[in-house]
Amino acid sequence: MSKTFMWNEKCERMSRSELENLQLGRLKTLIESLYKKVPFYKERMDKAGVSASSLKTLADLKFFPFTKKTDLRENYPFGLFSEPLSNVTRLHASSGTKGKPTVVGYTKNDIDMWSEVCARSLCAAGARPGDILHNSYGYGLFTGGMGMHYGAEKFGATVVPASGGRTQQQILLLQDFGARILCSTPSYALNIAYTMEELGIKRDTIKLERGIFGAEPWTEELRSQIEDKLKIEALDIYGLSEIVGPGVSMECAEGRNGLHIWEDHFLPEIIDPVTGDVLPIGEEGELVFTTLTKEAIPVLRYRTGDISRLSLETCACGRTTARMQRVRARLDDMLIIRGVNVYPSEIEKVLLALEELSPHYQLVIDRRKALDVLSVQVEVTDELTKQWGHFDNDCVEFSNLSTHIQTLLKDNLGITADVQLMKPKAVPRSEGKAVRVVDKRKEDKSQAESAAVKTPVSKH
Ligand SMILES: [Zn+2]
Repeated sequence: MSKTFMWNEKCERMSRSELENLQLGRLKTLIESLYKKVPFYKERMDKAGVSASSLKTLADLKFFPFTKKTDLRENYPFGLFSEPLSNVTRLHASSGTKGKPTVVGYTKNDIDMWSEVCARSLCAAGARPGDILHNSYGYGLFTGGMGMHYGAEKFGATVVPASGGRTQQQILLLQDFGARILCSTPSYALNIAYTMEELGIKRDTIKLERGIFGAEPWTEELRSQIEDKLKIEALDIYGLSEIVGPGVSMECAEGRNGLHIWEDHFLPEIIDPVTGDVLPIGEEGELVFTTLTKEAIPVLRYRTGDISRLSLETCACGRTTARMQRVRARLDDMLIIRGVNVYPSEIEKVLLALEELSPHYQLVIDRRKALDVLSVQVEVTDELTKQWGHFDNDCVEFSNLSTHIQTLLKDNLGITADVQLMKPKAVPRSEGKAVRVVDKRKEDKSQAESAAVKTPVSKH
């Protein structure tokens, strides 16, 4: 077996004891610095009765307070920064769809570290210096585009900064520039595949061999569909802007079973999302990260809301870092339909297992007569409409198929849903991040809220 090519073998193959020593030292420095520089953390640690001297071993981290997304929002924009803005090279922010955006900053060292972990990730995915890399992650305030871009430049790839959207032009660039690596959301990769098919563009006119996909939870079933349609190897990358952006962890091409966490920079924990207790290695729970080397806005025990589990088993690639399992669900994405909790990814799993359906779907939730109604809108395949010679939701073949899907959703997930079969191309395609859920209950609520804000208050 040929030796695995690693970007930074020294850090990626450390022994557990060497790594834990390094982590403990960095963690102590971090906690001292947060206590001194960020009033928010000083207050939280004082309240919990902990300080850097409470930290004898890594396990003592469990006594320290968590940081949540709401803490970043409440301290908008720069309240959790450890460095003055004069030391901050770049700012990024979340889209802020649920209120004020969360803002993150990077010093020059932070950008270097971020590029380093992205370079490691590219290497783990089987990219090689000299590769042409087509980057369809969005450029802008979102961390995806720039994060991978800098990582790929450091790595020595030739980067095509395509960003999202204008899919036909992107396909032209893929054909003419000959990229071997594609970075995008999984839903956008699927959009590229389907657009090529619709335009009658042959697969052998593009040279893609591997895809590095992230920024959305996705299932094994979706991976199979992408690999089948685009004829590439599809690998999972993980990250979130509060920790650094893409490149917190990466699935390796050799193992394809869990994502290697770059643990010398990001310390993972798995907790019970209800009690906050740390769970033993191997158990499923909420992922929590502490940044060990970040300067501008380090975070202590950040609750990601992502459900996963950790493994310390040796990997086929020879890397020794902990691996996290593909994120199964995001707590934020959980839908409650008539009292039943369900994640969009669980519905995706059921839908994508059926060969009559294409992987384009949307979940629409509305409230009718005080009851939540979930409508699953999913496209049937082109082949099916050709085979049946028509598209009519009322005819017997279609209504049998809808009923079959309804039964599967009820049996597997316990939910009652209206299933609406859609013609090919009827569901809006992803231009970056897919819109999987349209929650009309929230739309009504936010419209009512914004109307209330706009109503002038009488001062008489
Ligand atoms: Zn591996």
